[in-house]
Amino acid sequence: MANIESILSHAENYCQTHGIRLTPKRKQVLFGLVKAQKALSAYDVIDEVKREFNIVLQPMSVYRILDFLTENQLIHKLSTANKFIACSHITCNHAHEVPQFLICGTCHKVSEINIDKSLMSILRENIQQKGFKLVSPQLEMSCLCNECATSIAPT
Ligand SMILES: [Zn+2]
Ligand SMILES: [Zn+2]
Ligand SMILES: [Zn+2]
Repeated sequence: MANIESILSHAENYCQTHGIRLTPKRKQVLFGLVKAQKALSAYDVIDEVKREFNIVLQPMSVYRILDFLTENQLIHKLSTANKFIACSHITCNHAHEVPQFLICGTCHKVSEINIDKSLMSILRENIQQKGFKLVSPQLEMSCLCNECATSIAPT
């Protein structure tokens, strides 16, 4: 994994190219999520920023910042856990694809992978055929990571 500074400078470049501003507070929140390397609740983010920068953010402003970062796909919201996680493609130059999150129910490790385009078009077709319109294609899957699966397997 690239270091935090290089991830943040990629994020800054991204914001510049897209005409949006990574204000100091937004950057602090993103820093906290990148550093944590796991999904955090809004309150975990407040703790993280306090520990790192000795700044206490108000919950309302943290939620606004998290929304902003989510909209711009620098972070993602895991709806099932109501937590946020830094996008693992911040340092990539490709367009963001539909993400699929593999979430370990035991250690809460999260892995972000892309949904294959052909699979996505099958899903879209199925949805249209049933007379629905897709609102959010993001998939979150309950998983068990290899480490956890090994440690609880009977010996
Ligand atoms: Zn992502
Ligand atoms: Zn990537
Ligand atoms: Zn696990």
